[in-house]
Amino acid sequence: MAMEHLARLKTRLGEIDDLQRAAQVLSWDQSTYMPARGGAGRARQLATLGSLAHRLLTEPEVARMLAEAEAEVEAEGLPSDHADVVLLRVARHDRERAVRVPRALMEEIALATALAYDTWVAARSSDDFAAFAPHLQKNIDLTLRKTEHLGYDRHPYDALLEDNEPGMTTERLRSLFDDLRAGVTPLLEAIVAHADQVDDSVLYREYDEQAQLRFSEDVVRRFGYDFSRGRLDLTVHPFATSFGHGDVRITTRVSPTFLQMALMGTMHEAGHGLYEQNFAPELARTPLAHGSSGGVHESQSRLWENVVGRRRDVWDYLFPLAQQAFPEQLGDAEAETLYRAFNKVTPSLIRVEADEVTYNLHTMLRFELENDLLEGRLAVADLPEAWNAAMQRHLGVTPSTNTEGVLQDVHWSIGYFAGFPSYTVGNVLSVQFYDAAARAIPSIPGDLAAGRFDTLLNWLRENVYRHGRTYQPDALAERVTGSPITAEPYLRYLREKYGALYGVEAASAPPLPRQGEGGEGRA
Ligand code: ZN
Repeated sequence: MAMEHLARLKTRLGEIDDLQRAAQVLSWDQSTYMPARGGAGRARQLATLGSLAHRLLTEPEVARMLAEAEAEVEAEGLPSDHADVVLLRVARHDRERAVRVPRALMEEIALATALAYDTWVAARSSDDFAAFAPHLQKNIDLTLRKTEHLGYDRHPYDALLEDNEPGMTTERLRSLFDDLRAGVTPLLEAIVAHADQVDDSVLYREYDEQAQLRFSEDVVRRFGYDFSRGRLDLTVHPFATSFGHGDVRITTRVSPTFLQMALMGTMHEAGHGLYEQNFAPELARTPLAHGSSGGVHESQSRLWENVVGRRRDVWDYLFPLAQQAFPEQLGDAEAETLYRAFNKVTPSLIRVEADEVTYNLHTMLRFELENDLLEGRLAVADLPEAWNAAMQRHLGVTPSTNTEGVLQDVHWSIGYFAGFPSYTVGNVLSVQFYDAAARAIPSIPGDLAAGRFDTLLNWLRENVYRHGRTYQPDALAERVTGSPITAEPYLRYLREKYGALYGVEAASAPPLPRQGEGGEGRA
């Protein structure tokens, strides 16, 4: 039987997707090639496309289209994991979230955050937290009003998590961060005591920028990023973006005196790009053509950048290529030199420069402060002091300016709260997924060392990528790895890798205390 109502709904969802992808093209252009004075016009065009897409989803007619399509699909008796059933579930979820927040409040948020962002840019460059503080307070107040409309059981943070990490809660994140801190702190102390084990000076020689871009492109092409359906361009803050199945773009930045920036940044964005390039083609123009969550997306950037790109035996394969690309700079180096340099661990002030060991301490600190701000335990005026104290407590370093401290991230200025935990979910899942792949196909480590990246890519395509947003993060992790999201595989990975690198095995292997629910991840 022809499902007319479902077809009509799919047409509508396709139109919404078209508008959103068109907006992506405009914002990609804004971040790459747009001339300096194009900003005002571009902001209007993006606002228009955004509100058209919002209207096409929220108008009352769509409630009827959804109900009719649901009745039609139900009459067919399709199983709960059938593509059409999943599509209807996701479309209803998105629509209900979108109609809950009143349009007037959304417009108020858009105006306030635009102003707060401009103030933050100036405040960050002049180290002036007091100028930014009232805007931050306003963003917090508006966010709290939004959470009242979205609804939550225990914490306003839960209402926000639902957008970026569906199924995740504040309580579970607390327990995940507790596990990570308990495992990382002794390892980090041992590493700091052996800091002289790693010399990364080889990365700070002079490297031709064009040669760096060619090499970065060559590496991610070998990983499997498809340049016939993508491109690599320069930008200030690198990102990946998708205009549809046939066009998934990545961006990078390059420093003439720091080899890591372009290469590792390109690997990172290529990981995001590989995920999007490998969604099943039939998901195109539907709300399922997205990652399962921000964290699952980040797990793929981290997997290709860190688990693969910073792996010892992968550098046996990549090093001769790097030496060809930079014969003068790397003439006296070895694979081991680069491997160690790319994995140097240093407790530092800036999150985006953090290594694999310390990164989650940066996100944990933000997670705690965001919750304290949203639940009224911390006043905005006291935030810089609380930030610095937490940095000292968790990382043993204290920023000397707010620019290097509480003003460093863009997130809060644009009203984006509850986004940081996704980076940690991504770190944790990157290893969980990799371990599952290596268990399923034991040749994967050897294949990576020989530059045969397609064994791993094919497994990821089949088990993770092609599903897009079909499964929520925990369901996906459970299905693919036999365990929900859990810290243990990541901690074991850190202990093995950095224990060997810094020669600190014995000092860093206490048993991990278990807290909260969740599997052991040893399946
Ligand atoms: Zn990323």
